[in-house]
Amino acid sequence: MIWRYGAAIFFKVFLALKNETCVHSHLPAASFGVAGNFHLALLKTTVFAAAVLGVLVTGEESGLRGAKHGRMSNHNNHSNPAAPVLLSIAGFDPSCGAGTAADLKTFAAHGCYGVAAITALTVQNTQGVREVQNTPSASLRAQLDVLAEDCEIAAVKIGMLGNRGNAVVIAEFLDAHKFAHVVHDPVMKSSTGTELLDAAGIKYIAAELLKRSSVITPNVPEAEILTGLTIKDTSDMEAAARKIVEMGARAVIVKGGHMDKAVDILFDGNEIMPLAGDKGKEEALHGTGCTFASAIAAHLSGGRSLFEAATLAKAYVTKAIEKAYAIGKGRIPLDHFYRHKIEPPARGVHEVPQHGMHPAAEPAAH
Ligand code: PLP
Repeated sequence: MIWRYGAAIFFKVFLALKNETCVHSHLPAASFGVAGNFHLALLKTTVFAAAVLGVLVTGEESGLRGAKHGRMSNHNNHSNPAAPVLLSIAGFDPSCGAGTAADLKTFAAHGCYGVAAITALTVQNTQGVREVQNTPSASLRAQLDVLAEDCEIAAVKIGMLGNRGNAVVIAEFLDAHKFAHVVHDPVMKSSTGTELLDAAGIKYIAAELLKRSSVITPNVPEAEILTGLTIKDTSDMEAAARKIVEMGARAVIVKGGHMDKAVDILFDGNEIMPLAGDKGKEEALHGTGCTFASAIAAHLSGGRSLFEAATLAKAYVTKAIEKAYAIGKGRIPLDHFYRHKIEPPARGVHEVPQHGMHPAAEPAAH
């Protein structure tokens, strides 16, 4: 119990820290105050603080490269350390706020190399989805096979599937390869209301696919459809999380973005862990679910526990929302690269050099 609230409040404290570099000095004390002398809480808190430090303070996005993946590339005879290769199985959104593009941006922001198999081609901009063309299942299978026979895939993120045929192909693919980490965001509708998975596909996820994931990340409406339960508050979210595990999932995160409080419920079959957060911007956003699941996959591939991965992914999404800006007339995509912003050049350096001289060699202005 203490751990639950310690974790929740700990995360809130973290979010409250505007300056990421304060993480080291503030977090352990703040969370210790909440958890008292409870050793487990302190231990988990310390692990988490180390995780946050590794990711946020260094700016070395998740420090994934070289951590558990210190492999050296043997393909090109160079000694560049190879990044983990993560696979996105999702639909393509031409506005690049959700789906494949959001996944690949998230992977890149976490120091991973993303590869992708496309389940559907959507016609959409920030204002909505106009058309969906599902990929023929044989073509999806071929995309998956060609990647798996070539790359060592450290984690898989699954998003929009389109239809049952594609869901079956993915189940067979997962059975054939036994990947260490599979994060499934069971996308059913776009945030503008277009169906992105047929009814048979939803049934197949409930009966078959959710068993094959390390963690499944439904939002509240998706959790209601999967379980048949009505979800009104956090205790309903907990009941849905328990039911999804009973249905065969190894772990689940029911996302509370649609609720009054932005609490997500993580259940790993043993412990319910609320992940608290600030509600943040109320604007209509696009691609938050894809980004969250992809960030979890990246952190799992780097050796984090599910709790750490989910907490860090939530922190990343929160900040990417805070830094988001409109690119069109509709919903707002996240700023996946908020940590990679290029500093403005030092004064004078951007000026056009005169007399063909390097700016550094220019005489001082009079
Ligand atoms: N994946 C794809 C390919 C999509 O096109 C969409 C939405 O259009 C989503 C996922 C879901 O994203 P969101 O819930 O932010 O609309």
